Amino acid sequence: MKCIIVTGGVLSGLGKGITASSIGCVLKARGIKVTAMKIDPYLNSDAGTLNPFEHGEVFVLDDGGEADLDLGNYERYLDTSLTSDHVMTTGKVYNSVIEKEREGNFLGKTVQIIPHITNEIKSMISEVGRKSGADVVIVELGGTVGDIESMPFLEAMRQMHSEMGHENYVFVHTTLVPSLGTLKEQKTKPTQHSVKEMRAIGIQPDIIVARSENPLEDGARRKIALFCDVPLNAVISAPDAKSIYQVPLFLEEQKLTDYLLNRMMLDVPENGLADWKKFLDKVMNPKKETKILLVGKYMEQRDSYMSHYEALTHAGAELNAKVTFLRVEAEDITNEESLLLLKEADGILIPGGFGSRGTDGKIEAIKYARENGVPFLGVCLGFQLAVVEFSKNVLMFHDANSTEFEPHTSHPVVDLLPEQKNVTKKGATMRLGAQDIEVEKGTIAHKLYGATTVSERHRHRFEVNPHYIDRIQEKGLKFTGRSPDGRKMEIAELEGHPFFMGSQFHPEFKSRPQKPAPMHYGLVKAALEFSKKRKKA
Ligand code: GLN
Repeated sequence: MKCIIVTGGVLSGLGKGITASSIGCVLKARGIKVTAMKIDPYLNSDAGTLNPFEHGEVFVLDDGGEADLDLGNYERYLDTSLTSDHVMTTGKVYNSVIEKEREGNFLGKTVQIIPHITNEIKSMISEVGRKSGADVVIVELGGTVGDIESMPFLEAMRQMHSEMGHENYVFVHTTLVPSLGTLKEQKTKPTQHSVKEMRAIGIQPDIIVARSENPLEDGARRKIALFCDVPLNAVISAPDAKSIYQVPLFLEEQKLTDYLLNRMMLDVPENGLADWKKFLDKVMNPKKETKILLVGKYMEQRDSYMSHYEALTHAGAELNAKVTFLRVEAEDITNEESLLLLKEADGILIPGGFGSRGTDGKIEAIKYARENGVPFLGVCLGFQLAVVEFSKNVLMFHDANSTEFEPHTSHPVVDLLPEQKNVTKKGATMRLGAQDIEVEKGTIAHKLYGATTVSERHRHRFEVNPHYIDRIQEKGLKFTGRSPDGRKMEIAELEGHPFFMGSQFHPEFKSRPQKPAPMHYGLVKAALEFSKKRKKA
């Protein structure tokens, strides 16, 4: 096993995740078996209890792990499915060490950060290598070098470097090169300082990936090489990209893959990025355009719904179309500006969510889509609210609601899953991860999936109340996908509407370049048809 450690300097939010994923992508294109993992130095055991506004979406894995959104990037760029082992947090490491201490594994010893915590970190990384069988494990360390929280991780990595040998351990440091003044001079000092910080803990980066607005100028590249003690061809320019899917090609063009493979003493086979280029070409050169409106709760924070944006981008590429994202805060849905957006949209997507804020607005948007034949996709909470809207306005159960928002409603059309009734703890207790769904033949869902049994990822506590199923279906909202025991409603589609779909699961998490999520593909396709018809009318 070899490791590539991706660290970040200067400030957070530099796109370390995209750098790590892109490195994985270019190595994979050379036939190297690669996997990726993320270290988040916060104390939470996992990302499940984190606010999407602060941290971006919670990405759900097949095994039900609730992870940082970078896991989504790894899965999309590596076209692979990962497990909870690929996420490490300070909380998880300490929990494990403390459990071992209570079991008496360290009897007689003082349990300390070095060596006990660092040993645990090292063994968690090695386990990922062993279990995945990967030749190269890419480890992204969240946060910024210099943070107190990341110290034990960097120390563990320093130790691993000397234990595993130089050719098996590579440090890639991602930094910011800001441009200042009227001349937009590229400044390398922050990069120099952050490398100094790394050296102080005994780590010398091998490769510097410099994030900047424009391509790195020659002078700046030379300065970084000189002051940070890396070869000139190991200073990689990563300017702002039009599409995040361009980044692997930026790396390849600067021969980073060859450099890495040589550095790790691996053969250097021809690159196999042809497929990726084909996909990118479709992203960059669309033939048509369609506008999809997202109605959510954290609209200024694009990362809160990252997988939906990516899934729609994948779907658009497949259909040679650019998907333009319109965004509206659910709470604002009745203001004039938002109403205009509803009218402008060729399709409407309501993502998952928790808590009552914004639900009324989402219901308004669903009603608009249903009554005006606008293509609609509701995911998880979006699906549940489509059932609520239908019950209110078609079944005429005026106070129909989910008991999540109105525990005493006389029509609880969405209610707690029976197995959730006695759950009190919030962490990792939802219905989580990949579950099978039986899809009814001859339905839109069946056409989109091309299969009668599919597996999709879940993250919810509530479900469509089985007592209302017959009444809802009689009026035309059909449940065309169910859990294998037939009990849980998983997919809904509205009869007589061009595309009105809901899913209890999250199809966005399994969308990949060249393999768009079927539900998102269906939405974009219907939206393209809708806009064509509208233009004609
Ligand atoms: N709040 C809803 C539930 O728990 C929906 C969850 C979601 O959208 N992920 O069932």
